[in-house]
Amino acid sequence: MEENIFIDDMYHNYFKVYRYGGKGKKVLIISGLHGDEYSSILATNMLIKNISGNLEYNVSIIPIANMGAFLYRSRTSPYGGEDLNRIFPGKRNGSLCERLAERIFSIAMENDIIIDLHSCGFLCIPHIIALYKNRKDVVDLTKSLNIRYIVESIGTQGQLMTESLKRGKTSIIIEIPSGFGGYIQEKYAKEVSDGLLNFLNGRESDVEHIFLGKIEKVRSEKFGYFRPLKKILKNREVKKGEKIGKLDDEFIFAKKDGIIISTHFPSYIFKGEIIYEISEKF
Ligand SMILES: [Zn+2]
Repeated sequence: MEENIFIDDMYHNYFKVYRYGGKGKKVLIISGLHGDEYSSILATNMLIKNISGNLEYNVSIIPIANMGAFLYRSRTSPYGGEDLNRIFPGKRNGSLCERLAERIFSIAMENDIIIDLHSCGFLCIPHIIALYKNRKDVVDLTKSLNIRYIVESIGTQGQLMTESLKRGKTSIIIEIPSGFGGYIQEKYAKEVSDGLLNFLNGRESDVEHIFLGKIEKVRSEKFGYFRPLKKILKNREVKKGEKIGKLDDEFIFAKKDGIIISTHFPSYIFKGEIIYEISEKF
């Protein structure tokens, strides 16, 4: 069943919800809170196309939560520039974007599990962001998905995941590699989409999960031409002191043992920009 939800009858301030009956818990799968994260939107659209079989869950899917931002190929809302994923639970009498957040949040609260799909950078690896250390429900959910890396995070105030967790819901974020201006990395979108369908059909994940601590963002100490080493992009596990890339003629080294969640793509890097992100094994 497909339903259009308009916010105040404004042309682009609406989203679609696709609902599929199932016998178990209620699950919301949502993407496009950030309008230009097209890999995650493709993953959700693939899921809608392929969803079949006896579902273990009662599923609602919102593929493009922030239609205005989607049409503008923009992360944030073109109506006032707000970041939709920083203003949950939203406000019934607030700005256009706050009212949109309020409607999405009220649907989220009808569910037991909320899976929010996003896109990380061009050279990141697919990963789950989850508050897993003290939440068995969250750990169980991550283990049922086919994504290897799970990063610990309490999230940020106003995020759908964070605000849902506060209200006792089971909630995670899935990050899928993407790129600028809506560049899509289809291979990863398909991988995540297939994994979600697997989960909804109640089949177990055959992935060996690796639980990681918080992501540390390492910033460049100076300006220069950065390029990551090919071997790091293939094998993300590094030891302290291992070479990650080159900045002009100098090597950049891993500052600790861990998994390289993302590196900057080959480009000029300015002092203070993130050069790589690393997370230690838990
Ligand atoms: Zn995002």
